[in-house]
Amino acid sequence: MDSTIEKVSCLIIGSGPAGYTAAIYAARANLKPVMYQGIQPGGQLTITTDVENYPGYPDGIQGPEMMVHFEKQAARMGTDIRYGLATNVDFTTHPLKVEIDEEKWIEADAVIISTGASAKWLGMESEQRLNGHGVSACAVCDGFFFKGKDVAIVGAGDTAAEEALYLSKICSNVNMIIRRDTMRASKIMQDRVLNTSNIKIFWNSETDEILGGTKVEAVRIRNNVTNEKQEIPISAFFVAIGHEPNSSIFKGWLDMDETGYIKTIPGSSKTNLEGVFASGDVQDKIYRQAVTAAGSGCIAALDAERYLGEKGLH
Ligand code: NDP
Repeated sequence: MDSTIEKVSCLIIGSGPAGYTAAIYAARANLKPVMYQGIQPGGQLTITTDVENYPGYPDGIQGPEMMVHFEKQAARMGTDIRYGLATNVDFTTHPLKVEIDEEKWIEADAVIISTGASAKWLGMESEQRLNGHGVSACAVCDGFFFKGKDVAIVGAGDTAAEEALYLSKICSNVNMIIRRDTMRASKIMQDRVLNTSNIKIFWNSETDEILGGTKVEAVRIRNNVTNEKQEIPISAFFVAIGHEPNSSIFKGWLDMDETGYIKTIPGSSKTNLEGVFASGDVQDKIYRQAVTAAGSGCIAALDAERYLGEKGLH
């Protein structure tokens, strides 16, 4: 590390709703926050279309536009927003150290981690091409747009079960594509799915292709036992095969669950290390909404402010 290392009071890593909300609160508390936006400035919302469930937008808003609003508000309050990716950390001593773009280190008295999570995708060309045009990884965000229509969902964990049930209340029929002859979801969720009359399960089935030119029109599935293929007409295709928290650089430093979500002390954003706070999807595998992420970003900034005050650093 060179001797001209930059030192900041509050460093925010990541620029989704959690990061920007933390920035707004931290800036207003005069913590002079510095934010590194990460690889996808604005986060997961920049790859969605209409957002109708974020309070304050009575007519809905496009995800990317909403994130521009978040950024503008954070900047107006005085956040130093920078393009760059946190590539490593050294939390051995205080101040905490974070490496940016594999080339420089920043020291910070408090670090707020809001690096989010990324939805896992099947990895098909048609899935990518029709993303935002009927292909979605969030039923709660996009299900409403397919009210009264037939849809499909792939996955068999708790998320898929929960989303299939959510969709069953909005859509005509939900076709659930499950690659094995059993579901991974908890027993209670499985029972609910199996007892819902408008959810049809296709066991031992894999997605062969999502069909449609400019929007989703059907899905072709293949039974992996009989090799039989069939086409199901649908208006939307939901992928619910899990998420990956963007937490790899914190491994070994922060307590995490078995799937890499950062553990926080319940009711707070505090991690196992003093001065390190986590907010948003990187520490939440259950709710994962823009509004819950924003709320937890606020909590992180308030926790950081209190911490810095108690340590006489602010
Ligand atoms: P999971 O990893 O539990 O499940 C992923 C599902 O997707 C599995 O059924 C898996 O199939 C399937 N899958 C993975 N890859 C593919 C693929 N390429 N093609 C087809 N299917 C695929 O993820 P979840 O997001 O469901 O849940 C994550 C964690 O969060 C779990 O611990 C869950 O219990 C928890 N959770 C809890 C909730 C609650 O308590 N309310 C709500 C939501 C999640 P296979 O089974 O064959 O591997």
